[in-house]
Amino acid sequence: MSFISEDFEKLVDALSKLPGVGRKSAGRLAFYLINAPREQTMELSNAIKTACNNIKHCSICNMMTSSEVCDICSSENRNKKVIMVVENDRDLMAYEKVGEYRGLYHVLGGAISPLLGIGPNELNIKQLMKRLTEDIDEVILATNSTIEGETTATYLAKLIKPLNIKITRLASGVPVGGDIENIDEITLLRAYKGRVEI
Ligand code: ZN
Repeated sequence: MSFISEDFEKLVDALSKLPGVGRKSAGRLAFYLINAPREQTMELSNAIKTACNNIKHCSICNMMTSSEVCDICSSENRNKKVIMVVENDRDLMAYEKVGEYRGLYHVLGGAISPLLGIGPNELNIKQLMKRLTEDIDEVILATNSTIEGETTATYLAKLIKPLNIKITRLASGVPVGGDIENIDEITLLRAYKGRVEI
C-alpha cells in the first residue's frame, strides 16, 4: 500500500499524460500545485474547465474558437477564394503572426501517419473537399515538411487535382523535417511567397 494519498497519485497520473511531462516532472508539478496558494491552483483548474467547456471547432475551417464560426472565416477582409491547409491550430497561428496571408484556412487536425494509425479518415478532409465545391481559386498545402506532412500533401494533391483548382505547396525555406510552428517568421514569409504550383 502506498503511503501517499490516492488523490495525489491520480493528479500525478493525469499530469504525466501531458506532452513532454514525464512521471518525475508530473510529481514535481503535483507537489507544487498542492502547496501553492489555493486561489492560484483554483484559477488554473477553472481556466482548464472553462476552456474545455467553451472552446469548440469552427464549423467551416475546424480551427479552435469560442463561437460557431471563427473570426477568420466570418471576416469581411479575408479572401474567401484561397484556402491554406495546415495540420493544426499552432501552424495556423504561426502564419497569422506573419500577417501576410489574407485568405482562409483549413485545419486538418494532424497528418497521415500509418505508424500512429492516422489515416485520411481520421483527418478533417471530408469537410475540406466540401468547401472546395464552392468557388475557390487556390489551395495552399501548408503541411509540415516531415514525412507525414509530405504524405498528406501528396494525398490531398491527388484528391484535389480533378477539381481543376490551382494547388500550391510551400517553397523550400521550410527545412526538411521542420515543424512550421518552430520556424521563424521571415522563413515562413519566404516559403509562402515562393510557393510553387503542383
Ligand atoms: Zn473558421
